Parts: sequence; C-alpha cells; structure tokens
Amino acid sequence: MAKAFFGGVHPNDMKAATNEKAIEQLAPPKQVVIPMSQHFGAPCTPIVKKGDHVKIGQKIGEFRGLGAPIHASVSGTVAAVEPRPYSMGGNIMSVIINNDFQDEVSEEVVKPEDPDALSVQELIEVVKNAGIVGMGGATFPTHVKISGGIGQVDTVIINGAECEPYITGDHRAMLERPEQIIGGCCYLAKMFGVNKVIIGVEMNKQNGIDSLNRTIAEMKAPVVVQPLHTRYPQGGEKQLCQAITGKQVPPGGLPSAIGCAVFNINSVCAIYKAVTTGMPVVRKVVTVSGSGVNEPKNIECPIGTPVGELFDACGGLKDGTWKLIAGGPMMGMAQYTAEISVTKGMGSLLAFAGDENKVSDNPTCIRCGRCVEACPMHLEPLYLYMFVQKKRVDELNEYHIMDCMECGACAYICPGRLHLTQSFKAGKQMVKDDAAKKKAAAEAAKAAEEKKGA
Ligand code: SF4
Ligand code: SF4
Repeated sequence: MAKAFFGGVHPNDMKAATNEKAIEQLAPPKQVVIPMSQHFGAPCTPIVKKGDHVKIGQKIGEFRGLGAPIHASVSGTVAAVEPRPYSMGGNIMSVIINNDFQDEVSEEVVKPEDPDALSVQELIEVVKNAGIVGMGGATFPTHVKISGGIGQVDTVIINGAECEPYITGDHRAMLERPEQIIGGCCYLAKMFGVNKVIIGVEMNKQNGIDSLNRTIAEMKAPVVVQPLHTRYPQGGEKQLCQAITGKQVPPGGLPSAIGCAVFNINSVCAIYKAVTTGMPVVRKVVTVSGSGVNEPKNIECPIGTPVGELFDACGGLKDGTWKLIAGGPMMGMAQYTAEISVTKGMGSLLAFAGDENKVSDNPTCIRCGRCVEACPMHLEPLYLYMFVQKKRVDELNEYHIMDCMECGACAYICPGRLHLTQSFKAGKQMVKDDAAKKKAAAEAAKAAEEKKGA
C-alpha cells in the first residue's frame, strides 16, 4: 500500500519532458571550474596550483572537520585557482582545469581487490575518500552520516521520491542503472548491520519501481521498494521517514532520533561505484529542463562543467528566457549569472521563458488557511509571514520558524501570491542574528562583571 505524510501539495510534475529520455553523456568540456565548496561544512582547501598536471580522480581539494574531499573530473592542466561564481550564491574558490582530452586516470584511483571482503571500517573509508555527499542537494558528507548512525540506526531509507517537478535523473537511474542502486544498498545494509534497506519511490515512477524489484529479485538483495503517494515534498527527509515508518522526527531533530538514516539515490550509486571501481565522485547526472530549454534532457557530465555547455547540448535557450534555477522550482536557487558550473549537489538546471512567474505586484493574504493545510511541518505560514514583515523575533521563535524546511509548498498554494518562502529564509536569518547578538551581549556583560570583581 502506498504511504504518505501530513500536508503537502500537488504541483504539475512537468516530468514528461525528460522522463522517457535516456541519460546522455556530454561531449567532454574544454575546461571545468570545480568549486571548493560542494558539501555541508567548511569549504575544502585547494591542494593543487596553477600549472600542475592532474588526472581524473586525483584529489584536488582537502577537507577539514565536517566535509568531503574534491577530485579532478578531467585530466589536464590547472589553469587557475581563484574565486568564481557559484550556484549557492556569490563567488567561491575554484580549481579551473584545462582538459587535455587524454582521460588519464589518477594512480590514486585504486579498485578494491575484493569489494565484498571489505570490513565496515574499510567501506566507510572508501566512502570518505570518494568525496560522497548527499547528492540530492543536501550535500551532507555521507561518511559522517554512516559512522554517526551506526548503532543508532535500524531503518535505512533510500530517497527515490524525486518529488520536485521537472527532475527525472533518479527515475532514469532506476531504469538504466538499477544494479548500481541495489548494489549500493547492499553495502549500506552491511555498514549499518541491518537486514533490510527500504527504497521509497513515488507512484508516478511505476516502471522505476518495477525495474528495481526485478533487480532485487535477480540479486536476491536485502532491499524492498516502498511505493509512496505522489505529493510534494514527499522527498523531504522527515516526510519520507514519517511515510515509511509512521514515526515523526521531533522538531529540530534529525532522522537518527527515530532510528532512521536517509540516503539519496545518486549517493547510493556513488557508493557502489567507489566500492567496486575505486572512482570518487567526478560526474553528475543533471536534468536540464523548463520552458526556456529547446530540447530538455538528462545529461551526465564531469563535475565543474560550465552550465552553458549543458544548455548548448540541449539546443540552447529560447529567446525571452527570464529565469535560471539551479535545482528544482520549489527549493532551487535562482541564478543571476549563467557563469556557474555543475556541482555534486546539482540535480537539475531549469530555464523559464513562459508564464511561470507567479509574482504579484500586490501580494495580499486573504486568510484562506491553505498554507497551513499544505505545510508538512505543521507551521502557520500566514502568521510567520506577518511576524517577518514586522521583525517580531520573539513571535518567530514561538511559532517555530526554525522548523521551516523552505520547501515552498505554502508559497505554491498561496492564492495571495505572498513571497512566503523568501520571507522565511529572511526570518530564519533574523532569528540567528538575534541569537548571536544576545550571546555576544551576555558574554560582554559576563566579562564586565568579572572585570568588576577582579
Ligand atoms: S495561503 Fe496565502 S492567502 Fe491563504 S492564508 Fe496563507 S498566506 Fe494568506
Ligand atoms: S516553506 Fe516552510 S512554512 Fe512553507 S510549507 Fe514549507 S516548511 Fe511550511
């Protein structure tokens, strides 16, 4: 039986433009621009310099603390190490490599002799060295999620919901690479010591569900597919846990609080590739779609490929294209330049030339309550919006703004066209700034008190 969660909306999924198109390989780009921040945590430090020769899979960025290493995605010469525009906003230190088209693979890429004989610790080390992160956009380092979850997690869930409109890369992977997904699940089962891994898939991907089930039967794998109702944001970690286990992640908590760990389909494929071939994350499947794209496609390309090359491979952009988004239409980031490049967390690139713009010159709340019904986090968006406008930080805390996952369901459903999600991003920043200000004031008062007493 299909399962669901509280709230959510039913946007037109717009997946027909690409869901029947096989993943294409992009012609190798002349140059890649590899940002040193592709994970949740502090950016990597570049460990190559201008003029260095690099090979595919060679480590070029080292992390410290919470993070994951970054690798060269083409062979060639480092043209520069300098800040470049970045899909998450602003500029970020990047390693720019001129492709020599020799496709030389680094000596650092070592295929394990017997992948199935690796111990749990060795498997985690492989995941860490391969730079695997949450490749659905969250970019949390996968090795940290695994090592932190062992002993606490009894339910391993794979996120195959792919609930954002337009995006179909995971669906295509289910059809074209099911052995990578199921193989990756088997390694996760071993690492967590569980006898079953659950893949949650929305029911609008029935052929994907069938493909996975066939492979599970062939491989006799400890994996089950759980069909899910098609409803946005089904792929949110908390919503997925609720739909699959019936348990709710507590406010402010992580899935591990209810014994769950959630992994993205792309990340699972990356685990399989790293364990069986030694190759780290150097390529990414990106759905290129939207009314501004002449020929929407799913394209696999080296990490760091300039997005313009992806649009060119799709017949270019239409005249009148007015919006570019990295990610899905609900949670993606609007871009102010096309000078960005593909990262590990970029699942789609959308360009709009039609009438998708729902912005109103005079957004007005008509108190219909639809945003409250839609919010999967049980929040009251209409009040949060009002408190943000009035900068009332105490009330924002009282109404739990920090639990907002910025999913955009309320903004999508709102007939008053209020800029709800944007306001909540700003509201969350207000709360953080206020907390930092109060902490600084308390520390200053304490220091003054101590000085007085000295
Ligand atoms: S959906 Fe929009 S118009 Fe309706 S109550 Fe919420 S904010 Fe107001
Ligand atoms: S953006 Fe925030 S407030 Fe709006 S529906 Fe999503 S979680 Fe709720």
